[in-house]
Amino acid sequence: MSPAQLFRGRVLDAADHWRIDLPDPGRPTSIPCELHSAYERGPFKTCTGCSRDLADGCLYQIQKVVRGKETVFEMAICQGCGMRLYEEFSEESLEALKSFFLENFKPSPECSNCHFCGFPRPLAKTYTIVGICQKALLIMPPLVLCDRCSESLQARISKKTRDVQDNFIRSTFPGVPADLDVLTSLGGLM
Ligand SMILES: [Zn+2]
Ligand SMILES: [Zn+2]
Repeated sequence: MSPAQLFRGRVLDAADHWRIDLPDPGRPTSIPCELHSAYERGPFKTCTGCSRDLADGCLYQIQKVVRGKETVFEMAICQGCGMRLYEEFSEESLEALKSFFLENFKPSPECSNCHFCGFPRPLAKTYTIVGICQKALLIMPPLVLCDRCSESLQARISKKTRDVQDNFIRSTFPGVPADLDVLTSLGGLM
């Protein structure tokens, strides 16, 4: 089974809660520089949550939050860590995530605009970019979420789930600014 097929079966299907049909993700490509680690100045090598070696073939998610040209947050989490986090989400939050995607997600292989509202990425003050990878390959086009959509998604998520995300982020990344919205909820993408 190719990584793309493997991925397609799993899209938003963690814990079998729900699934969204995405267009054919196309062929895997090498991971673009914008999804490299700004801190390590190169591709991510280990899982930010559990230090697992990302070269071992697991699926992993890269997430970066970029403000202007500066990376203000970055992480690469393996599927195991993504699932553990996702399992702690409340039912309402899973439903909220699902409806947010169903109502707003506009898949496109281009990532010059927000994939939810279409706002041009270069004009967004802050945006989140997410890539699903395996070894040194990006297995579907990156997903871009502008700051407004990120806020509207967070606003739909229950307090309990936001606390779970927050604890994960604060314990894994002690230096993260308190006002930074990090959507570990996108962990559901794996
Ligand atoms: Zn991990
Ligand atoms: Zn948007």
